Amino acid sequence: MEAASVLAERPLAVTRLPGAVNLPVLSAAARKFGVLPMPNLAWTPEVERETAHLYEKVKAVIPSVEWPFHAPYVKAINDLKKQRNAVLLAHNYQTPEIYNCVADVVGDSLQLAKLAAKSDADIIIQGGVHFMAETSKLLNPDKTVLIPDMKAGCSLAASITGADVRLLRKTYPGVPVVAYVNTSAEVKAEVDICCTSSNAVKVVESLGADTVIFLPDQYLAKYVAARTKVKIIAWHGACEVHERFTADELNRYRADDPSIKIIAHPECPPEVIAVSDFAGSTAAMIDYVKTKKPARVLLVTECSMADNVQAETGGVTEFVKPCNLCPHMKRITLPKILDSLVYLREEVVIDPALAVRARASVERMIALG
Ligand code: SF4
Repeated sequence: MEAASVLAERPLAVTRLPGAVNLPVLSAAARKFGVLPMPNLAWTPEVERETAHLYEKVKAVIPSVEWPFHAPYVKAINDLKKQRNAVLLAHNYQTPEIYNCVADVVGDSLQLAKLAAKSDADIIIQGGVHFMAETSKLLNPDKTVLIPDMKAGCSLAASITGADVRLLRKTYPGVPVVAYVNTSAEVKAEVDICCTSSNAVKVVESLGADTVIFLPDQYLAKYVAARTKVKIIAWHGACEVHERFTADELNRYRADDPSIKIIAHPECPPEVIAVSDFAGSTAAMIDYVKTKKPARVLLVTECSMADNVQAETGGVTEFVKPCNLCPHMKRITLPKILDSLVYLREEVVIDPALAVRARASVERMIALG
C-alpha cells in the first residue's frame, strides 16, 4: 500500500503580480535556514521497520490499516527534526499519531513553552493553537517558532482584544486584571498577570486585592470565584469544546455505571463540575488517571486527550469518550507539520515592544511558582 502525498507535488506559495515573474515567497526562517526537498512519502519495508516501535505506542487507538498512511509522515518528520535541530511541542489535545509518535515535548500550553525554553533547538514547531505558539515565542524570543496552520485559533482567545482590556480598566479603575493563558499576546500585554487552570486561585489571591477582573473564560472565573473570597469580575468568553458538556449527559453515564470516575476540566460549566468526581487542568487530569488508575473513567475534555492517556496507560483503565473535538486543534496534522519543517512556515512574529509587556505577565505568574 502506498501513502502518496499531495504535498510532494505542492509548489511554494506564490504572490501573483500581473505581468511579473512569480517567485516563491519565503518566510524569514526559510531565508535563514533554507528550504529542503520534500521527502519520499511511500510506505516501504524500511518505513515499516523504522516506525514499528512507534506503532506499538498507539496500536490501542490507531487501527493497523491506518498506520501505512501515518508512518511515512512520522518517519519523515522525525528525520527532518534532527536535520533542522527542531523540537516539536504537542498539546495534550493533539491526535495520537502526533502526540505519541513525533512530539518531543507534550503537556499543557505553559508546560510546553517552559520546556521548550530549556531545549537547545533552533526551531520550535507548535503542535497546538496560535496563542500557544505566541506563548512559546514570548518565552523563547531568540528561537524560530512555527505553527503548521496559522488559522488554528481558539474561541477563548478570540473572545477578547487588547482594546477590550483597556476598556475594562477604564470601567473598573485600579482593579487588577488576571488573564488565563488562553489569550493572545496582545491581551497578555494589557493585563497584570497570567494564570493557568491549575494556578488560577493562587494567582488571584497573590494580588492582595478584594476585587479582581478575570478573563476571558466565564466558567473558569466561576470555578475560581467558588474557591476564593476575592470578588471576581468575569469576561464572557467560553471554550466551545468544554461548554458543550452538560450535567444531564454526565448523569446518564453515571446512571449506566455508578462506579465510573468522571473528571472534568474547569473550563466546563459549573453544573458539569458539580456532578464530577474531580476537576483540574489537563495535567492534573492526566495525573489523576495515572496515579489513581480507575477501572473506568470519563475525561470531560477534548476527545484526543483520552486517546493519548489511553495509549500511555496501556489498557489499565477503560476510557469512555464523549467525543467533543476542538476544530482548531484538529487543524494541526502530520502533513502540515511536515510542510512546516520543509518550508519553515508559518512563522510566529510578535512586535518586540508588545512582547516585552506580554512576557512580563507570563513571567510574573511563573515567578509565583
Ligand atoms: S479546546 Fe477550547 S480552549 Fe482549547 S484551543 Fe480549543 S477552543 Fe480553545
